[in-house]
Amino acid sequence: MALRPPRLDAAADEVARTAAAAPDWTALADVARSCVACPELAATRQHVVVGDVPTGGRPRFVVVGEAPGATEDETGRPFVGRSGALLDQLLAEAGLDRGQAAVLNIVKCRPPGNRTPKTPEVARCSGWLRRQLDLLDVPVVVALGLSSAKWFLGPRTKLAEARGRAHQVDGRAVWATYHPSAAIRFGPNGAPRAALLADLTAVAGTL
Ligand code: SF4
Repeated sequence: MALRPPRLDAAADEVARTAAAAPDWTALADVARSCVACPELAATRQHVVVGDVPTGGRPRFVVVGEAPGATEDETGRPFVGRSGALLDQLLAEAGLDRGQAAVLNIVKCRPPGNRTPKTPEVARCSGWLRRQLDLLDVPVVVALGLSSAKWFLGPRTKLAEARGRAHQVDGRAVWATYHPSAAIRFGPNGAPRAALLADLTAVAGTL
């Protein structure tokens, strides 16, 4: 399977061109932090949340969520609110170390009120993510939540059907699973938490 995120407008093309020209992670992060391709998000965000990479070398796997929330927007870092705390806990339970992961989002700016990112916003921000994945060159990706799963696996993806196994996409093993926010919503004994932990444990078994 090959990635074909939607490319809907000139702003998406401009982001893709700019991102593709970034020679490394630092250069990409510098230019992405001033991105204004999505006027509503650029006007309401506090930070462009570019993503985290390990300080000591190449990541072993990549985690990709949907978009920053309020805490992420305030701090400029991904997955640092309640969802992030649960993600860290479940990664540890699965035998994975967040310090060895790159942690990214499909959309780098917080949608107002935590609404779902709009299709043009996803299309515009795709240029950054595609280049990040190319630069990181990591063969294992965990896609958290439906927006992320659809970005990698296509718009008709159903999470309940896609989860539980690796999908080969552009030479990477992509594991689609529940977002930690769903695990919080359904509680500690809910099915999403158990499924997320099972999927992370399965990913750990491949590394
Ligand atoms: S969401 Fe992405 S494309 Fe849109 S303004 Fe933010 S960084 Fe740019």
